[in-house]
Parts: sequence; C-alpha cells; structure tokens
Amino acid sequence: MIIFSNVNALKTYRRYELRTHGSDVIFTSVLRVNMAASMVSQAALRGLQLSSSKHLFLDKFKGSRLSSRRWLNLQEYQSKKLMEQSGVAVQRFYVADTASEALEAAKRLNAKEIVLKAQILAGGRGKGVFDSGLKGGVHLTKDPTVVGDLAKKMLGFNLSTKQTPKEGVKVKTVMVAEALDITRETYFAILMDRSCNGPVMVGSPQGGMDIEEVAASTPELIFKEVIDIFEGVREDQALRMASNLGFKGPLERQAADQIKKLYDLFLKVDATQVEVNPLGETPEGQVVCFDAKINFDDNAEFRQKAVFAMDDMSESDPTESEAAKWDLKYIGLDGNIACFVNGAGLAMATCDIIDLHGGKPANFLDLGGGVQERQVYEAFKLLTADPKVEAILVNIFGGIVNCAIIANGITKACRELELKVPLVVRLEGTNVQEAKRILAESGLPITSAENLDDAAKKAVAAIKK
Ligand code: ADP
Ligand code: MG
Repeated sequence: MIIFSNVNALKTYRRYELRTHGSDVIFTSVLRVNMAASMVSQAALRGLQLSSSKHLFLDKFKGSRLSSRRWLNLQEYQSKKLMEQSGVAVQRFYVADTASEALEAAKRLNAKEIVLKAQILAGGRGKGVFDSGLKGGVHLTKDPTVVGDLAKKMLGFNLSTKQTPKEGVKVKTVMVAEALDITRETYFAILMDRSCNGPVMVGSPQGGMDIEEVAASTPELIFKEVIDIFEGVREDQALRMASNLGFKGPLERQAADQIKKLYDLFLKVDATQVEVNPLGETPEGQVVCFDAKINFDDNAEFRQKAVFAMDDMSESDPTESEAAKWDLKYIGLDGNIACFVNGAGLAMATCDIIDLHGGKPANFLDLGGGVQERQVYEAFKLLTADPKVEAILVNIFGGIVNCAIIANGITKACRELELKVPLVVRLEGTNVQEAKRILAESGLPITSAENLDDAAKKAVAAIKK
C-alpha cells in the first residue's frame, strides 16, 4: 500500500480538512491530553482543527473508513435552534441576511447589550478578520443603531479565521443576539470516541477563544468523562464535570442540567459532536451556551430529515455538492488527469501513481461499492465538465462492483457526452472478461491497461502527446 506522502495526497487531505471545517478544540490538545490515538483520527474526522497536518495526515487515512465522508455541519444559529428545542440555555436571537434586517433585529431585541455574529461554518470568528478591514467576526455593542453599519462590513465580505482557508469564507448571514455579561468562559463538548466505543464528554474550566492555547500549555485543565450508552450521563458524572468546569454552588447543579440536556440533544439528533465554547457563567447566576457547533452522523440522514434539510451547501464546492447528490465522493485537485476509481484507498493510490509518473490528478473521485450505471454516467459528466481535464483514467477493482456495469456505464457516457479526451481504462475483478468484451466491441477509442502502473503511465503519456 502506498503511503500518501506526496503533494497531491496532502492537498486532498487539506481540501478534506477545509470541507470538514474546524471546531474549537485543536488536535494537539487531544494529543497532549494523551487521549487514545483513535480519538485523534476520529476527532480529526469530525473536524477538530488540525494545525500540523502532515503526520496526522497519515493517521487520518490509515483506515479506509476515512474516505471523503462529509459530516453535516450547521451554522451556529441553526445549532442553537436545536439546542433551544432541547431546553438548553441560549440567548434570544434573530438572523439577518441584510444590514437593514440586522438593524431592525437589533432594535426588536430590545436588549441592554447586543452581540452581532458572522455566520460561517468555522470557529475562531471572534479573532477573525474581514476583507472589508473589520476586525472580529463577533461584535458586542450597547447601541443598537450601530448594528446596521457593522453588519454592512460583514455581509458579502470574507471572514478569515484560523479555521478557514486563507482567503476566508464569505459571510451571507449574521446572527443578532442578546449579549450577556460573562464572568467565566468554560469549554464543553460531547463527541463520539472510538476508543471508548461511544460518546465522551470533554470539558475545560478555561474555555473561550484561547482554548487551543489552554489545551496546548495546560493539558491538565482538560477533563474527560466517558459516557455509558446504556446508562446515559449519570448524575454523578454530570456533577463531576460541572465541578471540573469550575461551577460553584447552585451553578454546579445548573451546569449539570445543561450537560444532561446537551447529551439528550446529542442523542436526539444523532450528533457526532456537540461543542459549546464558551459555556459561560453570567453575573446573574446563569449558565448559558454562547456558541454552538453540532456535527451529525450522515448514516442517520434517513431519520433526521428535518436536520439534514437545513444543510447549507453554499460553502461547498458546487462540483462536490453535485457529486454528493449521486453518492459519489469527489474532491477537486488542480491537475489534468481525471481519476475515476472505486474505493478511497484505490483513489489515493491512483493519485499517487499518477504523480509518480509525472502527471497530476485533476480530482479524487471515489465511486464507492454498490455503484450503478447511472452513477457511472453522472461521474463521467462531472469529470468531463471540468475544463482542466485532459485525460481520464478509470481504475476499477471489481469486488462488490460488477465490472460489466462499469463498462456499460462508460460506453453509454462516452457516446452521449461525446467524450473528447483520451480515456484509459483498467478493470480488474468481478466479471472483468465481460466488461473487456463490452469495451472492445464498443468501437470507442478506449485505451485499456493491464494494471495500475500501466494505466497511470498511459494516462500521463496521453497528455504529453
Ligand atoms: P468563535 O468561537 O467563532 O470565536 P463565539 O461565539 O465563541 O465565536 O464568540 C467569541 C466570543 O464572543 C466568546 O468567547 C464570548 O466571549 C463572546 N460572546 C459570544 N456570544 C456572546 C454573547 N451572547 N454575549 C456576550 N459575549 C458573547
Ligand atoms: Mg466559540
């Protein structure tokens, strides 16, 4: 098996990382806190912020499960709506798409202090910067009349934070919420942890915008509590976590209740992560969730229709979204050889071998196991719509996949899409003889290859011609 040590593989990973978006706890915190290694890759999977990506990259792709899974991400305001419905304490808020709506909302809130928050699928907003020059994706003000002007400098501009790509992410929505004084900010999250075969609570009394720093320099301030899925969060566990978070007196009880409600929510919506940073304390003696990030298990989509209907695809690459519709895992890269492969591991190896022969993959496309003719056709449509693509390399290992289905899909797509670029096909496995016959009798200009190496060589040569 090839180790993905080259730039393309790394890029694939980076794209993956960007798509999964960050959350506030960085992986170093998880590493240094010495949680099980599996949690690192799992945490990575669900989008914990990864800074020194290279070695984690290897970890990340160790299991084939780590194919380009797309965990549903919601905006803060959507997560907070779900929290509200579960009785979790959040502040009153409105959502606005224009500056005038934001101003209107600020007045309507009629609050002592207002907080205006840019909505993007990444954390670190408080310390982020807009390309309008405005500093901070989270602004507090006592004067509702300035909210319109602030929103004007947010909406339509890119906000970059340590969890976004360098150029940032365009802000299309802002949240206008009631602000509360916060005397103390803690960190609290529940996430699925493979090493515990279930969910685990992670918390720190020193939450807020510098949680990464806290985790890196004072790992002893990160507390963990394994949840038994049959018992749920036990009373003593909730109270211990509340106390570890530093809640005192009546606040301890309140925090424990919030923790239990957050776990109820975690179960109810099939979350893979519920993260609250900060889980804060106010001078009036309330425990409030000031920020929210929930990730969901894609396997639960069938029973979480309402949640998945909220999916905001606007921050995703349109080709990737289109591919997702057909259940294809696609990640665009910047080369010119399109890869059409089944299985994430094989797709990675294909990218690597192309690179080895001096070519550059244009994408990473994983057809998956139970592929049908229609998906083959749609995959070809996606690949050929990319103007960068100068050759297509099909590399299929038919295990569950029947090669004849692939061959039929390919010939159909070639004819209907009037394929203009060279096509190299390597098929192996189930029903391969029949598949080869279909291709040969099609009369189409298809170059067949004997093995992966041969296929990559031929695809690279086709471009050089
Ligand atoms: P991010 O994690 O993306 O930086 P947060 O929602 O955590 O964004 O906001 C950043 C900081 O802004 C919080 O740590 C908190 O100090 C402050 N803040 C956020 N919401 C409120 C609020 N409703 N009232 C008062 N302060 C807030
Ligand atoms: Mg936060």
